[in-house]
Amino acid sequence: MTTQVRQEVVVVGGGIAGLCAAYELTGGREGPSSSSPRVTVIEAGPRVGGKLQSLEIDGRVLDSGPDGVLARRPEIGEICRDLGIADDLVPIGASGASLFARGRVRPLPEGLQMGIPTNWQALRASHVLSGAGLLRALRDRLSPLPSSRGALQDRTIGSLVETKLGREVVTTLVDPLLGGINAGRVSEMSAAAIYPPLLEAGQQRGSLMAALGAMAPPPPSSDPQEGDVPPPPAFVSLVGGMASLISVLETTLRERGVTFVLNTSVTSLRRTAGSDARWSVDSERTTSRADGVVLALPAIGASGLFESLDPDAAALLAQIDYASVAIVTFVFDADDLTLPATGTGVLIPPETPHPRGPFHGERFLTTALTFLDRKWPHLHRPGTTVLRSHTGRIDDDRLETMSDTEVTERALIELGILFHDVGVPRESHVTRWAESLPQYRVNHLMRVVGIENAVEHLPGLEIAGAALRGIGVPACIGSGRAAGQKLRETLGAKAL
Ligand SMILES: Cc1cc2nc3c(=O)[nH]c(=O)nc-3n(C[C@H](O)[C@H](O)[C@H](O)COP(=O)(O)OP(=O)(O)OC[C@H]3O[C@@H](n4cnc5c(N)ncnc54)[C@H](O)[C@@H]3O)c2cc1C
Repeated sequence: MTTQVRQEVVVVGGGIAGLCAAYELTGGREGPSSSSPRVTVIEAGPRVGGKLQSLEIDGRVLDSGPDGVLARRPEIGEICRDLGIADDLVPIGASGASLFARGRVRPLPEGLQMGIPTNWQALRASHVLSGAGLLRALRDRLSPLPSSRGALQDRTIGSLVETKLGREVVTTLVDPLLGGINAGRVSEMSAAAIYPPLLEAGQQRGSLMAALGAMAPPPPSSDPQEGDVPPPPAFVSLVGGMASLISVLETTLRERGVTFVLNTSVTSLRRTAGSDARWSVDSERTTSRADGVVLALPAIGASGLFESLDPDAAALLAQIDYASVAIVTFVFDADDLTLPATGTGVLIPPETPHPRGPFHGERFLTTALTFLDRKWPHLHRPGTTVLRSHTGRIDDDRLETMSDTEVTERALIELGILFHDVGVPRESHVTRWAESLPQYRVNHLMRVVGIENAVEHLPGLEIAGAALRGIGVPACIGSGRAAGQKLRETLGAKAL
């Protein structure tokens, strides 16, 4: 009788992508079987979850990283169903947002597609653009610029929109919306990687607004009839916060026998020689031998691990740079802060200067505000208001030299410019996210294809996470699960 030796897999990085890879390696929805490998997750930090973390403030557990996800992506519903927590999903409680433009907080125009206007009347009525900016955008409607019909190639989102609608639309609308999500600048961001429909629409002859408008789903009826299916929410979260997904995943994985090694940075990855070659995963304190490895860490770290395996792939990974941001979470007495009547938050265009006060002329540190207890009504407590100030962007390094107290004070001064008569917060908390948001620059997808090709040639290795094909939590869940499934198949074939 022969006994089958159980295969070993190491997952490097315990963020959502790494945990989802571990989930699939241990059988996914079906659960483990006798052929499932033994899985170890090695995580540099003191806890798993990566960017999905929470904090307790004023008796509430609040997300300090992502607070919600795009509902139209299937991955969040799937993983929640598989983990038995689909009932914990909660829809966003409000819609719309405002913009600080031309000295005032104004509602965003309707009909924006990723910040790009598609409805001329709504754009005009919103007063977010100057007269000159509006006239320039009007050219797209009256005499749209013919686009050159060259070979379709990647371009920056900023240049595509600027050619058609003018610079003011880019700096006032597209940068705060689309750039803000990535803490980047759309003048550097890849249309192919971030918003492919724009690449297609921007290279067509004719109006960009009309082309994007035609691609948009129809708006929900303003006069719903009996029997109409209500439109699905745009965003969802979990009743215990997005970070509660991590607790459930971690518990499930522990029950499946997954080992977690915390406070341990993997420093090198080697392939041992010989016909039964295995992987050697080294940290300063440990060496693990494995039949398979999933790399689910940021590109900066993954690049170092590729150096001896494939220097070209290491160089491609090193080209993916990251923005640092900080989130200031505030709890106010409701009387101490008067917010706009509707909407989930306010966006602030990157070049906006302080119009007055001690930092007169200096540009805002705050890039956006989220009205947390309006966005997620289950967080609401009578008499208080909870909001987050998002600060930092790829081209703004001021956070590096500011203390938490200085960041909080600056965020408060900027709140005062937006809303006037802002009182003293009951509580505040700064969460720093250094080098946290990967920048998908022009030709990002070409880099990713190069990295994926290198991985194809390294049997037993998979790669996942935000550096590759989507920074949102759903994309990271999808990439982690796909990496885990693929490695399970590779190991299954090897075991035959
Ligand atoms: C402030 C903020 C707000 C966001 N808001 C949203 C949102 O609202 N909605 C949304 O969908 N997305 C949002 N995102 C994006 C999303 O949260 C992330 O892109 C996603 O969680 C990344 O998951 P990941 O597993 O790829 O990487 P990570 O979460 O970065 O996990 C990687 C893990 O690898 C570990 N690691 C690094 N180096 C090593 C090493 N050498 N050895 C071992 N371990 C290592 C790290 O400690 C980390 O735990 C936000 C991101 C940030 C920063």
